[in-house]
Amino acid sequence: MKRRDFIINSALAIGGTALLAGCGKKELIMSENQVVRRKYKDIEVPLLGLGCMRLPMKNDEIDMQELEKMVEYCMQHGANYFDTAYMYVEGKSENAIGKVLKNYKREDFLLADKSPIYKMRTREDVRKVFNEQLEKCQVEYFDFYMAHNINKNTFDTYKNVEMYDELVKLKKEGKIKYMGFSFHGTPEILREVVKDRKWDFAQLQINYLDWDVVKAHEQYDIVQAQGIPVTVMEPLRGGGLVNLSDKALAKLKENYPDTTPAAFGLRWAASRNNVVTVLSGMSNLQQVKENIQTFIDFKPMDEKENALALEIAKIIQSQGEINCTACKYCTEVCPRGINIPAIFSLYNQYKVSKNKMLFTIYYETLADEEKADKCIKCNLCNKNCPQNLSIPELLAKIEKEYEEIKAG
Ligand code: SF4
Ligand code: SF4
Repeated sequence: MKRRDFIINSALAIGGTALLAGCGKKELIMSENQVVRRKYKDIEVPLLGLGCMRLPMKNDEIDMQELEKMVEYCMQHGANYFDTAYMYVEGKSENAIGKVLKNYKREDFLLADKSPIYKMRTREDVRKVFNEQLEKCQVEYFDFYMAHNINKNTFDTYKNVEMYDELVKLKKEGKIKYMGFSFHGTPEILREVVKDRKWDFAQLQINYLDWDVVKAHEQYDIVQAQGIPVTVMEPLRGGGLVNLSDKALAKLKENYPDTTPAAFGLRWAASRNNVVTVLSGMSNLQQVKENIQTFIDFKPMDEKENALALEIAKIIQSQGEINCTACKYCTEVCPRGINIPAIFSLYNQYKVSKNKMLFTIYYETLADEEKADKCIKCNLCNKNCPQNLSIPELLAKIEKEYEEIKAG
């Protein structure tokens, strides 16, 4: 009998659930045909949650029918954690997920939302926006609520509007169950954010590519040292770890022919000991089904797999990719409407494929006003970029390469 079967069978004998201690890590709770869960404070949290940043789209609007099916499938399989934010899907994500979740009992799902620091001018704004978010999501409280995207550009505002104190107040009023922050800054700022503060969780960008590149490992260690549990964002790096280069994919398949890049990336992130849940920005029912299966069959990574992930990360980095997660925070503020994530994505694909002709063909599919040469170097985008990219410089570099390719 396989180990998993044994666990499940034993579980059924004691009422349908079982505990699995993975690699000496925090216990995982398993139930038949349900994603694994972890005990977190006084509740159980599924190890996979639905990130609502890349919801299904149809004719430039959120495809509500597809979203309903995705949420239904999640709920049927115990993946009942949904993570939205004020700015996701151009401000439409909260309304959409709120509308769908209205079909379920409030106590049956966990909803996470975030306070958009960039919008705040005064402490009163924090509460005003919070109330607006409750209304958009059609709920009376948030299970998880965060100061959104603390980084070097937002940190002063976060402090000036006394966001931490206002969130504590909202928590005391029962409108927030667990308060946290999402983070994209330096380790120095992170130390300041956690110092002398009681956070229930921190949302960090954890994936095997960023572990060293953007010091994710250091961030993870800082919060772990403070005993703060982690929720994971961008476990697949905005899809970048799904569409691996030929060389990186070959390395993975040579070792594990039956796995997929998505399953491998999600398992890597979920195998960190201090992780409560991994949020994946799924965009259709097929992705939901595949990812849920990964977490029904979840097995923490062993040492060989962990080492392979870091080897694959080295292959990816050596292929010169730009560290963009396609979060689109930059496009929110760009006065020229430049399609920054699309340009970076095309460039990254070109760097992997080395196919100059395809690069120019795809680049030409962008509208003129979306292209890199329209950048006026105002630097507004840089302030919003969680990856701290020097966007105008990168655009100038890409534009130069593009012109050189065209000139032949
Ligand atoms: S620097 Fe360029 S890309 Fe960035 S916001 Fe300004 S115009 Fe847009
Ligand atoms: S350039 Fe930065 S802000 Fe823009 S999509 Fe990429 S990661 Fe996000």
